[in-house]
Amino acid sequence: MQKHQEDGRVLAGGQSLIPLLALRLARPALLIDLARIAELARLGEWEGGISIGAMVRQRVAERSPLVRQRAPLLAAALKFIAHPAIRSRGTVGGSLAHADPAAELPAVVVTLEAELVVASSERGERTIPAADFFSGHYTTALLADEILTEIRIPGPGPSTGFSFHEVSRRSGDFAMVGVAAAVAVEEGSISGARLCLTGVADRPVLATAPELGLLGVAPDRGVFEAAGEAIAARLRPPTDLHGSAEYRRQLALVLVARALRSASQRARGDNEDRREGAPA
Ligand SMILES: Cc1cc2nc3c(=O)[nH]c(=O)nc-3n(C[C@H](O)[C@H](O)[C@H](O)COP(=O)(O)OP(=O)(O)OC[C@H]3O[C@@H](n4cnc5c(N)ncnc54)[C@H](O)[C@@H]3O)c2cc1C
Repeated sequence: MQKHQEDGRVLAGGQSLIPLLALRLARPALLIDLARIAELARLGEWEGGISIGAMVRQRVAERSPLVRQRAPLLAAALKFIAHPAIRSRGTVGGSLAHADPAAELPAVVVTLEAELVVASSERGERTIPAADFFSGHYTTALLADEILTEIRIPGPGPSTGFSFHEVSRRSGDFAMVGVAAAVAVEEGSISGARLCLTGVADRPVLATAPELGLLGVAPDRGVFEAAGEAIAARLRPPTDLHGSAEYRRQLALVLVARALRSASQRARGDNEDRREGAPA
């Protein structure tokens, strides 16, 4: 990468890059395959959370008991990506580096305040907060000679529940709108909330408890619907052949309320809604 800069491209799982090459939408002079770098495929504990190497396959992360325990939001969102065959090749890092505005994982890492470790042979490593990593359609803070090496996700806070909801045209399609949510409930009131939408802008759209009017209030349907309305009103989603901006705004409203409600139920230990939002 140091030598070839923009002419070189790294190949991870190939699930986005190979179709781009086939369609001649990308024409790198050189492909650098990361598949044999064992250090990039490590998955383990990191402080109270987890460290996921960029080359960890999506399916491996989805099936990992450690991911389910330390990053349940990631485990939930991975199931919505494409189909098992694609997740068996596609990598966690590849999805983040590709930065599709409708992808699930960017919304997850922003919600969870993950740190993304990137490296170049000239300048060594630097760490980028997930909220600063995505800078537009298929564009990230990665420089031409850098690769993403590791994703560090802090452990779940106390009394915090998580949920991921999305609507797509067919099972396995990219989301028209998706919502990742984390809600903390202490002594009957909301002590923290973060949520992030995908599919509604050129990058993940984050909202936190104070902006949503959720801090210190009792979790109930009315406050979650009001939060959904507040977010939907500020969105300017795209219109495309899958749905109009107005339809996406309505989806955002409904999915935000639904994601907040199921995350708060899980925060209180009520898992009755576990089936909700789970893809087949
Ligand atoms: C039919 C189909 C349906 C899909 N549906 C979904 C979906 O619903 N949701 C979703 O999120 N994704 C979906 N995908 C995409 C899938 O998740 C890809 O696996 C992912 O986008 C890219 O990961 P990859 O490992 O395959 O990366 P690659 O395709 O190998 O690379 C993608 C891009 O990222 C760069 N890159 C990869 N790894 C790194 C790294 N470590 N450092 C720097 N740059 C890197 C590459 O150079 C390339 O530009 C779908 C794919 C297919 C084929």
